[in-house]
Amino acid sequence: MNLTRFPRLLFSHLPTQLELMSALSKALGGPRIWIKRDDCTGLAGGGNKTRKLEFLMADAVKKKADVIITQGAVQSNHVRQSVAIAAKLGMASYALFEERIDSKDNDYNHNGNVLLTKMFNTHISRHPSGTDMNAAMESVAEKLRVEGKNPYIIPGGGSNTIGALGYVNCALELIAQTNEQNLHVDHIIHATGSSGTQAGLVTGIHGMNATTSVLGIGVRMPRDIQEANVLALAQDTAQMLGFRTAITPEEVQANCDYVGEGYGIPADSTLEAIQMTAQLEGILLDPVYSGKGMAGLIDLIRKGVFHRNENVVFIHTGGAQALFGYRHNLE
Ligand SMILES: *Cc1c(COP(=O)(O)O)cnc(C)c1O
Repeated sequence: MNLTRFPRLLFSHLPTQLELMSALSKALGGPRIWIKRDDCTGLAGGGNKTRKLEFLMADAVKKKADVIITQGAVQSNHVRQSVAIAAKLGMASYALFEERIDSKDNDYNHNGNVLLTKMFNTHISRHPSGTDMNAAMESVAEKLRVEGKNPYIIPGGGSNTIGALGYVNCALELIAQTNEQNLHVDHIIHATGSSGTQAGLVTGIHGMNATTSVLGIGVRMPRDIQEANVLALAQDTAQMLGFRTAITPEEVQANCDYVGEGYGIPADSTLEAIQMTAQLEGILLDPVYSGKGMAGLIDLIRKGVFHRNENVVFIHTGGAQALFGYRHNLE
């Protein structure tokens, strides 16, 4: 699979490390749990959006954009990474925050990713929960065009076919790493939200004819909607890559049993997963995504879904910067 025919800027720290979580594996009684450190991609604290932005920002540069517009929840990791690379490339940036969870908490509203996003001289606006954020971004773009600017809209989570290429690339990287180490991976598990990460991984695994299953642990939507979103984006990405065989629904699996009360609200299982991973492995997960992903993995292991001698790779998609916005949940 040749990704070099798509414009790309190289700014991620790649390949990310693949490490064995020996203490957590032992505490849970197997399988062997590996962690791929996509929390360490290097851009302003890192995380999974950085890989997508290599392709998205190359497209923006190609189109001669001078300003980017993107959106996310108030504690968005995607917004932080997007506005950081815009600053580096000399572009202005507009961040639209959707107040997706009803919180008056000072840390949630001002600390963590919000504080970091402000470091990059971004124009921040806040919008009530349920706002049509795509329409809101379009109206900002329209105003900027009238001023003679050339805006580039990055969709929420960077999840379109161009962004998904970042995770096609991650799949290639992971399979190369595991081939080198002669490590057979049975399952890949990670938190899934706006779908680009999982769609890219599924597309990459399909394209290499690898047999590894990919399981997304949902953080927001019910399972049928999540799987449909991932499948549609994976199929579009495969088409853009010119695959001869289509991606089938069987290749897309999500488990949305660990969302708890809703997006951005950590469940007890999320907090337990964050604590276990910190205390056994010295690794920080986050309360919105990777903590829920790990909660799913831990529970599925306890239920005996995986064999003792299997190898499971947990992709750490980042987000620890949001911990500072959730102090009241964590102390
Ligand atoms: C955005 C995000 C995800 C989900 O990735 P999608 O591509 O949106 O599905 C997972 N973990 C973290 C930390 C994120 O910021």
